[in-house]
Amino acid sequence: MDWRVPLADLDFGKAERKAVMQVLESRWLSMGEVTVQFEKAFAAMVGAEHAIAVSNATVALHLAVLALGIGEGDEVILPSLTFVATANAIKYTRAQPVFMDVTNETDFNLAPSAIERAINRRTKAIMVMHYGGYLCNMPEILRIAREHNLFVIEDAAHAPGSSLEDRMAGAWGDVGCFSFFANKNLATGEGGMVTTDREDLAEKVRLMRSHGMTTLTWDRHEGHAHSYDVVELGYNYRIDEIRSALGLVQLEKLYLTNALRRDIVRAYREGLKDVEVVSIPFEDHPGVSAAHLFPILLDASVDRSAFIDAMKARGIQTSIHYPPIHLFSYYRGQMGEIHLPVTETIGKREVTLPLFSRMTEAQVEMVVEGVKGAVEEASMVVERS
Ligand SMILES: *Cc1c(COP(=O)(O)O)cnc(C)c1O
Repeated sequence: MDWRVPLADLDFGKAERKAVMQVLESRWLSMGEVTVQFEKAFAAMVGAEHAIAVSNATVALHLAVLALGIGEGDEVILPSLTFVATANAIKYTRAQPVFMDVTNETDFNLAPSAIERAINRRTKAIMVMHYGGYLCNMPEILRIAREHNLFVIEDAAHAPGSSLEDRMAGAWGDVGCFSFFANKNLATGEGGMVTTDREDLAEKVRLMRSHGMTTLTWDRHEGHAHSYDVVELGYNYRIDEIRSALGLVQLEKLYLTNALRRDIVRAYREGLKDVEVVSIPFEDHPGVSAAHLFPILLDASVDRSAFIDAMKARGIQTSIHYPPIHLFSYYRGQMGEIHLPVTETIGKREVTLPLFSRMTEAQVEMVVEGVKGAVEEASMVVERS
């Protein structure tokens, strides 16, 4: 479909093309020197000791859980209002995901009080997800983690460049996991990053990313090594030089592109402030957001499907973040019925509006006017007797 305003768009230009061409001309495509540069630059941005580039955020999360030694018989607390990969990464290790509710209709992040309720002697970790780039209440979550001796894993897929109290996403927990999927703030197509301050975790993640092997093809190419040992059951979760080259350029722009996204968020908030049947979460959020998503919550009097159709008729693409994981057939079959009232309400009423760094003022205006028209059209007729 040819959208007048797509949900997301790349911020790619000449620099990306040049970086990819340089890799092609170098004749080294698999993980090597460009990846090392990307990792160094990313670690510096986050303020973490180590950054390890991987194939995507799903495997970053898998490696985070593995590196912390979590597995069968262990529980990990996480929100249900996230992408399914957050939970799947826990399941891959045979640990049990424990879904808890988010805070309220203005804060879509995991509620610290819900985390405390879920803790028992099998609990090993808290996996938070910074919804839309707005950091969770990390000071409180770290306090809970310390009190109960739990690990903290950050799913920071939405949050490259986000911060709270001057501490970046990915620098709060034991491990941070980032996504460079095609529609994320920093896009390489597929790609991901693990960040940590802990040397032991970094070493383990590096090993597990490449078959548990003690040396890399690159080391052998460079003449640093001629053989290797295998010391763990590892995976092939590597990134390649083409993606790392894209990542480096995208990282250089991140400060600017995130700022452009925040400008659009401000314009949206201003444009939509008088629309009574629309509420916007994270209004008073204390941090700096990467502004990955612009979620709105429709009043119960608005039919969401009709709203989405009315937006589509105007050429405006929207999405839903997220259908709650605990309601998916697979997860229902795994753990039976659970009830998370705030998550379920958001799951039913949330709509994500287009947001990307190069959105024009005219496009923002088109979406704002589109929302105003669509809520009228989608307003449910209340039968009166
Ligand atoms: C995109 C995303 C992921 C998965 O990222 P991939 O790089 O596609 O594997 C995980 N968690 C959240 C919250 C995401 O938005």
